[in-house]
Amino acid sequence: MSPEEFRELGKQVVDWIADYRAGIESYPVRSPVEPGWVRDRLPAHPPERGTGFEQVLGDLDEVLLPGITHWQHPAFFAYFPSGASGPAVLGDLLSSGLGVQGMLWATSPACTELEALAVDWLAELLGLPPHFRTDAAGGGIIQDSASGAALVACLAALHRASGGRVAAEGITGRYAMYVSEHTHASLARAARISGIGEDNVRVIGTDPRTRGLDPQELDRAIAADAAAGVVPALVCASIGTTSTTAVDPVRQVGEVCRERGVWLHVDAAYAGVAAVCPELRWISDGVAECADSYCTDPHKWLLTNFDCSVLWVADRGPLVQALSSTPEYLRNPASESGAVIDYRDWQVPLGRRFRALKLWSVLRWYGAEGLREHIRSGVELAREFAGEVAADDRFELLEEPVFGLVCFRPRYPDLDPAAADRRVLDRLEALNSAGNAYLTHTEVDGRVQVRMAIGAAGTERRHVHATWDAIRAAFFG
Ligand code: PLP
Repeated sequence: MSPEEFRELGKQVVDWIADYRAGIESYPVRSPVEPGWVRDRLPAHPPERGTGFEQVLGDLDEVLLPGITHWQHPAFFAYFPSGASGPAVLGDLLSSGLGVQGMLWATSPACTELEALAVDWLAELLGLPPHFRTDAAGGGIIQDSASGAALVACLAALHRASGGRVAAEGITGRYAMYVSEHTHASLARAARISGIGEDNVRVIGTDPRTRGLDPQELDRAIAADAAAGVVPALVCASIGTTSTTAVDPVRQVGEVCRERGVWLHVDAAYAGVAAVCPELRWISDGVAECADSYCTDPHKWLLTNFDCSVLWVADRGPLVQALSSTPEYLRNPASESGAVIDYRDWQVPLGRRFRALKLWSVLRWYGAEGLREHIRSGVELAREFAGEVAADDRFELLEEPVFGLVCFRPRYPDLDPAAADRRVLDRLEALNSAGNAYLTHTEVDGRVQVRMAIGAAGTERRHVHATWDAIRAAFFG
């Protein structure tokens, strides 16, 4: 493709995206296709001769679009939002256009230096402590996902807990990780992948009122392990759990970790970015004093398209020591000078995209004010929606929302709990199949809850109102 062909086709692609975004409300939010529908409509074998880019756009219109679930639709309320704002998409396009691979500072200095500055900016915007800055003892990095960040934190924690021996010897004894029943499943996976093993993941009880991890029980569990010769490696505290956005008491949990010398990882994948608003900054209480690692995902609620998960560490030493290895073919004077960051040593893969450009575009385009406005709008709409739910006695609100997620369930008093839950799921499926909105569910205290996660970039009050009408009709129509 020549630069001139690229220019022409690129304009068509940008027009396509702009038209798609302008007309997004005309699509069913959740894709209605059956398994295999998309593949069955595409050629089974690759072309012998190139078919031109028009064919790709044709495939997009005719086959791929029906198989798309429209995450940027303003009535997308499923899971958590995954914002792909205009500036983020353009930043990502520039990154693809540059096509650099930033595994080392030397392989594209701007890729590393912009990333370091972008995550420092974000740390400042979120009120995170100065030792998380890349010009201090710690530092931040953009990882692919909060799951990847948890794994990396786990490897650093194991490195520290083993006095550096794990890297050479592997896991020779037993190590334990501590979570609550509400911790994201990626932590158990990190235990599995890192060699800690799921049998050594201790699920600590929670306060039934706040659903926050119980620090006393944590302390007892760590002490029992230590007495039995098991090495406590990592505790995960969550700020905004996946099911209900519960917030663990990070400070108290962190004090136990400090006392016992255990690595504290704070998973704030969804909710951490809310700290851009001073009135929500209380969620980070204890992070400055106690967190060894902290992760939040701009690719959820901060208008930045996937993948962009930021992991900060208080001390980069254990992380870099756990992951670095230097084969001859990567040696270069800048790395050897010790004056640069080589982000390959902070992550599992070697290669890395220029992901900072999309975060940078978002931070520059919106500024702190624009980001606060976006978060506040989500919180406000969630509170209003929760008010509607609470005012309708056919529904039960789980609790007042703190962020953009509202959990609720319809009451079916004539049915036993299992039958009532089945009905909730059936009606939710019917609501989603109708295509006007998309919500998902979870289970809390053994009962199904419907989750309404507000925070897509284009969501306005009218979308929430229309969805509330659709919910009432679906559950009680
Ligand atoms: N942690 C929490 C609290 C989450 O809610 C999620 C996803 O929703 C994750 C981790 C995993 O996120 P990612 O897709 O970035 O791995």
